Amino acid sequence: MSLFSVHTLGCGSARPSLRHHPSSTVVSHRGSLYMVDCGEGAQLNFMRQRLSFARLRHIFLTHLHGDHVFGLPGLVGTIALNGTGGDLTIHTFEEGRKQLKAIFDYFCRDTPFEIKFNVIEPREAVILETKNLTVRTIPLKHRVPTVGYVFEEKPGQRHINAEMTRFHEVPVYMMNNLKAGADFVRPDGRVIPNEVLTTPPSKALSYAHMSDTMYMPELAEKIGPVDLLFHETTYLEEHAAMAAPRGHSTARQAAMVARDAGAGRLLTGHYSSRYNDDTPFMKEAQEVFPNVILNREGLVTEV
Ligand SMILES: [Zn+2]
Repeated sequence: MSLFSVHTLGCGSARPSLRHHPSSTVVSHRGSLYMVDCGEGAQLNFMRQRLSFARLRHIFLTHLHGDHVFGLPGLVGTIALNGTGGDLTIHTFEEGRKQLKAIFDYFCRDTPFEIKFNVIEPREAVILETKNLTVRTIPLKHRVPTVGYVFEEKPGQRHINAEMTRFHEVPVYMMNNLKAGADFVRPDGRVIPNEVLTTPPSKALSYAHMSDTMYMPELAEKIGPVDLLFHETTYLEEHAAMAAPRGHSTARQAAMVARDAGAGRLLTGHYSSRYNDDTPFMKEAQEVFPNVILNREGLVTEV
């Protein structure tokens, strides 16, 4: 299993389609699973991808439209039935907490674990920090309050150069200090610089998930040069006139955000059900930004 990957459970939009499932994505990072949105049936695609319910501790909702939320009661019920759940934290707005709590209190009242809520606001903020990951929000422009999420690895520790530490007889208890960047002082007083004993940390990777939003030129700077960017592509340019009034973007606009942010790759999605073929989304985006990945259910993308 890769250390940092993005699993697409659903990349359709609100109107039901036989070609796509409603929005849901799972970010897998070092064995922990973080779900972004939970459209109807998300748990089935979660199982199809052989993801582990026991590893799911955080669910991030981008906004309170049904195609991003309706899968939650089913998913929570299943985790309860399986008895595999530890505490589960749902990150959502106050209105989401209120509405979902009422549903869970009635339908999931025997859940053998605590469902916690982290109430977020539609503004820029760091909302979760784990040992090795930071999650922050960016407000988007949709028809209701909406945020995107950016998952950023914390800078890792330096790697020990075993050959050199052996050569300089560095004791084992010093290794954590070396990883943190300390020099080694030998018993004779000679200082061995850290760069001699270690190699630089692996690159810290990042994934941004920008769900329903109209085109925001200023978004690129807020996201920054992430390695992988999901930006909704509900429409093609031929329907651009519909996009902004409905709070959505075209594939071309998503590509402009990816290009301006300096993103590594763009992942498409949230396709309108009016289209019978997804390939034009990729072609249209690639006219602006070359590194486009055409999203589909079941896709696993390495960050
Ligand atoms: Zn929406």
